[in-house]
Amino acid sequence: MDKLTILKKYYGHESFRPGQETLIDGILTGRDVLGVMPTGGGKSLCYQIPALLLPGLTVVISPLISLMKDQVMALKEGGIPAAFLNSSLDEEELRRTYRRAWAGEFKLLYVAPERLSGEGFLRLSRETDISLVAVDEAHCVSQWGQDFRPSYLKIPEFLSQLSKRPVVAAFTATATGTVREDVERLLGLREPLTLVTGFDRPNLYFDVLRVRKKDPILQSMVREREGKSGIIYCATRNAVEKVCAALQEHGIPATRYHAGLSEEERRENQEDFRFDRKPVMVATNAFGMGIDKSNVSYVIHYNMPKSLEAYYQEAGRAGRDGAPAEGILLYNGTDVVTARFLIENGRDNEVLTEGEREEARRRDYERLESMTGYCSTEGCLRGYILDYFGQEHPSSCGNCGICRGQFQRQDMTREAQMILSCVKRSEDALGYHVGVSLISQTLRGGKARRLTELGLDKLTTYGLMKDRSAHEVSEDIRLLTEKGYLFRDKDFGGLLLTVRAGEVLFRGEKVERAVRVQLWPEPEKEKSPSRRRKKAEVTEEDGLFQALKKLRYRLAQKENVPPFMVFSNAALMDMAAKRPRNLAELLKVSGVGEKKADKYGAAFLLTIEEVEEVNRDK
Ligand code: ADP
Ligand code: ZN
Repeated sequence: MDKLTILKKYYGHESFRPGQETLIDGILTGRDVLGVMPTGGGKSLCYQIPALLLPGLTVVISPLISLMKDQVMALKEGGIPAAFLNSSLDEEELRRTYRRAWAGEFKLLYVAPERLSGEGFLRLSRETDISLVAVDEAHCVSQWGQDFRPSYLKIPEFLSQLSKRPVVAAFTATATGTVREDVERLLGLREPLTLVTGFDRPNLYFDVLRVRKKDPILQSMVREREGKSGIIYCATRNAVEKVCAALQEHGIPATRYHAGLSEEERRENQEDFRFDRKPVMVATNAFGMGIDKSNVSYVIHYNMPKSLEAYYQEAGRAGRDGAPAEGILLYNGTDVVTARFLIENGRDNEVLTEGEREEARRRDYERLESMTGYCSTEGCLRGYILDYFGQEHPSSCGNCGICRGQFQRQDMTREAQMILSCVKRSEDALGYHVGVSLISQTLRGGKARRLTELGLDKLTTYGLMKDRSAHEVSEDIRLLTEKGYLFRDKDFGGLLLTVRAGEVLFRGEKVERAVRVQLWPEPEKEKSPSRRRKKAEVTEEDGLFQALKKLRYRLAQKENVPPFMVFSNAALMDMAAKRPRNLAELLKVSGVGEKKADKYGAAFLLTIEEVEEVNRDK
C-alpha cells in the first residue's frame, strides 16, 4: 500500500495538507525530521502513516494522558492497531497491553516520557524492532518554552539504549527559533529534515473585542452560538468558577476544568465536553493540550493569555477539522495586570537557577508585549499573528474583526496635545523621562505621593484629562507611540517626544484614531454567507446537516465514543453538500474512510435519503 491509499482508506482524506507529504517521505527514507505546524495542521498523520508503512513498531512519546487516549481511540476507530502505556491504566490493563506489545500486535504504541526509563518498557524496547520514535509536542524539551517537561530530556538516553537507533521524528507547534534549536539539539536529532509549514489557519476568524464588562457579552455570544461546541479560556481558577456558574445559571450547558478540581471531576467534565453532553467548556490553560476534539467551533478568551504563542495554540483548538470557526478575545486593561502577576509568580517551582529565572521572566515580558500589541493593533489580526511567527502575508485577510469590521475615524488631536505637552512639561521640570503610568496619573489629576514628591501636580497639564479612565489615557498614549509621536525608552520605560510630536504641538497637525463601529459580534444570521459557504455548499443551519449531526450524536452514544470521532463537522458538511446515494459516493466525501463507511455508512445514507424525501414532499 502507498501513503495516498492509506490516507484515503484509513482517514478518508483525498490529499495531503501542506508539508505532510514531505515529512512522511523524509521518515520513510530513513531521515530524522522536525515538523513545525500549527495546532490543527495535521501533525499526527505525519508519523501515523509511516508507522503503518514501516516494518517495525512506532513509539510515540506524548506528554499528556488525554492526548494519548484520544489518539489511540481515533486510531482504533479507523481500524489501526494502537495502544498506550501510562499511569491511567490499572495493573491488569497494563499487563495485557505489555503482553500484546510483546506479541507484536501494535503498529503504534503511545507512552508518557516518564515511562522511557522504566525497566519493563526498556526491556520491551530493546527486544522489539522499533522503526520510528515520534516525539509529539517536542517543545516540551525546551526550558524556554511554555510547557517544559524535564522528563523529555531523557529521550536521547532512551534512544541510546536501543539495539538500533530508529528514525526520530519531532513535532511541535511552537515556531520560535530558540525553541526549534533546542528541540534539535536536546533530542539529538541527526541532520533532521526540518519543515515549517504555513502558520495560517484560514478557516479561523479572529477578533478582539475591547469590553469593559465581559460577562453579559460572553453570555450573549455563547447563546448566539447555541448548539455549537466552544471553549472559554480564563486566566485563573477563580474566573473559571465564576464564569461557568454564571453560564449555567443562564441555562447554558457548560462545564469546567482547572487544576484545582479532583482528577475524577476533571475526567468527568472533560468527557461531558468531548461527548457533547456539555458542549461548552470553561477552563484555564490546564485544559486543552492534547484535546483533539475536532468539532470545536469557537474559542473565546475571557482573559488575555500571557503570550501570542499560547493564544494561537489555544484559539487553534477551534476548527481543527477545517470547518469555519472563531477565535475571539475579550480584552480590557485589567488583563495586563493579571498577566503581569502571573509572570511574576509563575516560575517559582521550576528547576531554574536565579539567573535563568530572571532571563525566563524577561522573555515572558517580551511575549506579553507582543500579546498586548495584538489586542490593540489597528491592523489585520491574522497578519499580526503571522508577522509574529515570521511568515509573509497579504495586508488584509478578509476574515478577521479588523478586516471585516467597520471603522469610523475620530479626531483625537486635543487628547494628543494634552498628552504630548504633559510629556514635554514633565521632562522640562524633572530633566529626565517618566513612564506611561506617571504621565497618565498626572493627566488624570492623581493623588499618589510620588506625584507630589516629584512636583508633577504643579504642572499646567495636571488634571487635564480627569474625566477619563486610566485605561483610556494609557490607550491614547499607546496609540501616539504607535503613530510615531512618542517613543518609549526600551531600558527605562520613559516616554520621549519624537520630532513629529512638534507638528502636533506647534504646527496644528491633526491626529485621528480609528474606532470600531461595531464592538458587538455580528449576529450569526447577518454574517455574509461567503465565509460560511467557502468550504462547502451548505451552511450549518442547513436541515440535512442538522439531521446528520443528530444521527452522529446517536451513533456516538451507542458506540460510546465522542461524536467527532464518528465524523468531523467538516465531513458532515461535505456529506450534506454532496448528498451521496450509495457507498461509493459516500467514500468520495472528505473524511470518510473505509472502516467508518463500513460501520456507519448505511445509517448516514438512510438519513440522507429520508431528508431528501421529506424535502421533495414539501
Ligand atoms: P495537530 O496534531 O497538528 O494539532 P491533527 O493531527 O490532530 O493536528 O489534525 C487536525 C485535524 O486535521 C484532524 O481532524 C485531522 O483529521 C485533519 N486532517 C489531518 N490531515 C488532513 C488531510 N490531509 N486532509 C484533511 N484533513 C486532515
Ligand atoms: Zn484580517
